[in-house]
Amino acid sequence: MKLGSWGASFISAMQSLLLIELAETSNKLDSQDIKLIGSVSRRAFLSKGIASAGSLSLMSAVVGSQVLAKAASKGGLDLCALQSKFKGKLLTPEDADFNKVAFGGLWNEIHPKRAPQLIAQVNDENDIAHVIKYARANKLKVSVRGGGHNWCSPSVRNSGILIDLTRMNKVISIDAKTRKAVMQPIISNREVQAALKPYDLAFPTGHCPPVKLSGYLLSGGMCWNQGVWGPAVGSVEAIELVTSDGELIVASADQNQDYFWAARGAGPGLFAVATRYHLKLYPLPKAIATSLYYYPYEDMEAICDWLGPLARQLPTNVELSFGILSAPSKLADKCKSSNGKTCCVSATVFADSEAEAHAALSPLENCPMIDKRLSKSVQQPADFESLFDASGALWPPKLRCDVDALFYNSTLTDIAKAIKDHFLTSPSPKALVFISVFTGENVPVPPPVDTAFSMTGNLYGGPWTMWQKQTDDAQNKEWHEKCVQLLSPHVCGHYVSESNTVEHPDFAKASYKEANWERLAQLRKKYDPEGIFFAYSDGLEDDFGA
Ligand SMILES: Cc1cc2nc3c(=O)[nH]c(=O)nc-3n(C[C@H](O)[C@H](O)[C@H](O)COP(=O)(O)OP(=O)(O)OC[C@H]3O[C@@H](n4cnc5c(N)ncnc54)[C@H](O)[C@@H]3O)c2cc1C
Repeated sequence: MKLGSWGASFISAMQSLLLIELAETSNKLDSQDIKLIGSVSRRAFLSKGIASAGSLSLMSAVVGSQVLAKAASKGGLDLCALQSKFKGKLLTPEDADFNKVAFGGLWNEIHPKRAPQLIAQVNDENDIAHVIKYARANKLKVSVRGGGHNWCSPSVRNSGILIDLTRMNKVISIDAKTRKAVMQPIISNREVQAALKPYDLAFPTGHCPPVKLSGYLLSGGMCWNQGVWGPAVGSVEAIELVTSDGELIVASADQNQDYFWAARGAGPGLFAVATRYHLKLYPLPKAIATSLYYYPYEDMEAICDWLGPLARQLPTNVELSFGILSAPSKLADKCKSSNGKTCCVSATVFADSEAEAHAALSPLENCPMIDKRLSKSVQQPADFESLFDASGALWPPKLRCDVDALFYNSTLTDIAKAIKDHFLTSPSPKALVFISVFTGENVPVPPPVDTAFSMTGNLYGGPWTMWQKQTDDAQNKEWHEKCVQLLSPHVCGHYVSESNTVEHPDFAKASYKEANWERLAQLRKKYDPEGIFFAYSDGLEDDFGA
């Protein structure tokens, strides 16, 4: 199905959002400064008595990872034993590419002030096993980097070995007859759907094009067409893993069940490395279509009063969202009274015929405020490509971010009331509050019973606070924290991979039912008693790795 004219205009509208701040220049540091400061460790820097006020302020300005990575060098690691067996690439802080790999692969441009001692870019499972055995022998911990898309960058810990999976990026097999596929972790959402499309098949991928299966599938997987397909972990039939002993295992409903349970939800707290995912596939919906309506900010509560109850009457193959955001440039003039902010209703149906798609999306035309809409595009044909283009424009790369995506059992109107005034003060035009309004009669849908992932709600989403300049960090982070605080009375759970579990370790616990959180802890003790894998909150203190 071709991207319709609506698709093109939606994308250009979304892209125009991105242009708003293009005039702003980024806060680049002079490379000579980086070199100068990077040549001494923080402690040496201070003990040599050269920490004059000026030097210190220069140093604190250099949050640049280059400095931090160098300071993390512990020296003394004898890599010979590992190098003889290892086929991938090992990088120490002395290597020119170390910083690029440690930090350049992160989605969030706010780079952590921590660094590993060694990065192992693995070629395959055997490399992973060698690294883990080496870590064990040398009393080092390991962290895992999948696609680097977790908003709070938990893959970077203080010290230890970072296992970088970037090279494990192959689709191993697709069996159209049995509707099964096997994929390595570093395959993106867009690549998954593109690989399956020739077979008229699909998988419940996430919404943004570049996010990789790796950490997405370990977290729960908030996916396209979730109302029908369920969270993506429910469509993972087996996972190949390397354990804390360096053993290669397959976890499924029939074998290594504890691992299978944990790996489908533990996210950044998994005590193993996932190397292959065995996926259950679905027929590609034949008629995907999208409607999008922008409304005046002032009508937000009335829209929510109507939309919340309507969601119960819509079929589950309608993915419905309510967004609060800066108006696209073509609507900016109409939104002057609300500081350039607007709200939108978007709905995507995954149907099998145009008639079914039409019937499912038509109720959105009956909004009591329809005459007050700022713009609308109705029932435009779409495909995964165009859906990814649109999402990719709303969540663009190369930004500084703070994100908390939450589950709620309150009404949509309660959420709107909680955030409406505060959103008007957002320091960045790229900030969004996006709420998925789950559809169908049986909301909230219980999460799969046999997975660590255990959260559900009527609504899901929250503030995606994104901005460009380092000098705006404090203001945006403060604004974001206030959003979370205002929403908190309505929150029934966090999502472990879209919550700031680094600055708020309690958000990891809040991502699970109590029994699941306890079981995860027990399994960690049982299967990784020496703590080879960093636990959720280990090694996250901001330091120079010292
Ligand atoms: C633009 C954008 C859009 C997003 N949209 C969605 C969405 O629609 N739905 C959704 O559910 N999520 C979404 N996310 C969140 C994303 O799925 C998670 O943050 C996920 O963790 C990213 O996977 P990753 O491999 O890049 O993780 P990384 O940042 O590489 O890793 C995070 C942690 O996960 C663990 N990990 C990752 N891979 C492995 C592995 N193979 N084995 C063991 N441990 C591993 C490690 O502990 C690591 O510290 C989005 C994120 C972004 C940036």
